[in-house]
Amino acid sequence: MRTIIVTGSNRGIGYSIAKYLAERHYRIIMVDYDRSINETGSKMNELYGNVEGIQCDVSSYEKCEEAFSTVDRHEIYGIVNNAGINRDVMFKNMTYEQWDAVIKTDLYSMFNVTKQFVNSMIENNSGRIVNISSASWNGNIGQANYSSAKAGVIGFTKTLARELGKYGITSNAVVPGFIKTPMTDAMPDKIKEKFIEKIPLKRIGTPDDVANAVEFLMKEESSYINGILLEVGGGMFL
Ligand code: NDP
Repeated sequence: MRTIIVTGSNRGIGYSIAKYLAERHYRIIMVDYDRSINETGSKMNELYGNVEGIQCDVSSYEKCEEAFSTVDRHEIYGIVNNAGINRDVMFKNMTYEQWDAVIKTDLYSMFNVTKQFVNSMIENNSGRIVNISSASWNGNIGQANYSSAKAGVIGFTKTLARELGKYGITSNAVVPGFIKTPMTDAMPDKIKEKFIEKIPLKRIGTPDDVANAVEFLMKEESSYINGILLEVGGGMFL
């Protein structure tokens, strides 16, 4: 059974990815900032028998080293770098703390987590890295911090695709559009309606829409797909 780490999986898209992959017979390590991830992991384990939860703040390199010290590095087949936050505000009013928190959580986490497992993946001569970016990577009003981090995720993804391909490791980004989760539930209804109007499929995406894309990239049969941006946005990127 192949083991996959999913960060930010206590709720939202990460939770759906973990569940979707567990249902499809992967062993899952659910990672989240919130301590209740241990309970979430246990509950999921009762259902699927192949899940555990680990508490970790992925914005901190030291915390990642510590949290993953008990994980058998060579067991890890895949990483889904999903944990992310937003602190939306016009740049002129953005504080250093709002900039720093988003860059550390959404971009540094890519380094902090992937670095723990990349050498064992190289030794295994196989692996899958899937990083969650966002439609906002291309720039978005009120999201200078978030857009910068999510554009960085794409640079990171493509660079790893070039560097690690020769070891049988693929690195791809999934780029969600507008997905119903606690992150987007916090948005005012008027803004949500405007977004939906711009989506050709005229609906907000579900976390499972994203999970399906991640699972596709994890497959053995996807071994020749490397360095892509897989957009999950109902056509909003057209
Ligand atoms: P949610 O806010 O619903 O869930 C994010 C999860 O990440 C939470 O469980 C949160 O834990 C966890 N998390 C936050 N910070 C850390 C940290 N430092 N260490 C470990 N875990 C952490 O977000 P979504 O599910 O909506 O988003 C998931 C990913 O998808 C993010 O990267 C987001 O940027 C991206 N995305 C989402 C879109 C959407 O429309 N929803 C669109 C495009 C991209 P806690 O609850 O404890 O804070």
